[in-house]
Amino acid sequence: MTLAPDSLGPTVCIGEILAEIVATTVGAGFSEPLSLIGPYPSGAPAIFIDQCGRFGGSAAMIGAVGDDDFGRMNIGRLRRDGVDVSGIGVDPELPTGTAFVRYRPDGDRDFVFNMWTSAAGRLVWTDAMDAIVSRAGHLHVMGTLLGNSTVWPMIERAAEIISRRGGSISLDPNMRKELQADTETGARVAAMVAMSDLLLPSGDELFVAAGLSPDVGEEVALKHLFGTGVSEIAIKRGGDGSSCHEADGTLTRVPAFIVEEIDPTGAGDCFGGAYVAARRLGMSAQQSLTYANAAGARNVMFRGPMEGAGTRAELDTFIQQMERAK
Ligand code: ATP
Ligand code: MG
Repeated sequence: MTLAPDSLGPTVCIGEILAEIVATTVGAGFSEPLSLIGPYPSGAPAIFIDQCGRFGGSAAMIGAVGDDDFGRMNIGRLRRDGVDVSGIGVDPELPTGTAFVRYRPDGDRDFVFNMWTSAAGRLVWTDAMDAIVSRAGHLHVMGTLLGNSTVWPMIERAAEIISRRGGSISLDPNMRKELQADTETGARVAAMVAMSDLLLPSGDELFVAAGLSPDVGEEVALKHLFGTGVSEIAIKRGGDGSSCHEADGTLTRVPAFIVEEIDPTGAGDCFGGAYVAARRLGMSAQQSLTYANAAGARNVMFRGPMEGAGTRAELDTFIQQMERAK
């Protein structure tokens, strides 16, 4: 078994909690008045942990919101979905972070963020956080936070505490490959990869995690990563589904579900939240990938980044009813 069992303690995720406001029309940018819908609870770490809790995995969030409705909305949603919110701080001065999103016709997105100048950027290690980390069974790390001088040191501290008590670590290596050119950051990537039991890459992120060029091919990158101590790699392949590669050579592939995509944001995070929860609850790679594909696919059918996160019962129904790609 790659990951620590759910009974050891909650899966913890650390990072930004945001309110997301989405343009209702496709187009470029926000430079003229347009119709918007929101706020929706958001932030990649929050989407991940919401899906994890909603699926029935033990889950806890660490982050900060403002003393405002955007913050209360996020805390309320996470609590409703079974996430322990005692590690979410409320900043007395700064507002909850926001993301305005508009989709372009080619699927690219334009954003206006207020993230690190909001409550999210003033996260500090508190006794409440310490209490959660000290009884956690798993840490999920967002690679996007690697270059963040406030949050990354807390992630590293949590990783050490959780590993020491026999917990496991997963990494979504969604970091920009330009970061690796810098040797110090490259070393931090390599250190976090080496501490991880499970990687959840998509696209070229497998190669970014391995510190190799995509020219070497998937097999070489996988072998390299297993050599560093990683034991399982679940690759997200969008409309082509996903695959799980284990260090002992076991390969499991599961096709995607066929859905109409309304809002692609959050698919990867829902995939990860469901996958980690399912694995920690003792399910096979095949069953976990099936739930994870269903979680990602269901989420893209709903407008709003975590509106489509499914309970286990909702995902069971989805799996029974939806057609799968070949
Ligand atoms: P994101 O786009 O949120 O960054 P990602 O690139 O990390 O996510 P994806 O591969 O896009 O991850 O999505 C994760 C999983 O969700 C896929 O492996 C697939 O199973 C499912 N999924 C995502 N988009 C679709 C889609 N349009 N149709 C069917 N399944 C999808
Ligand atoms: Mg994607």
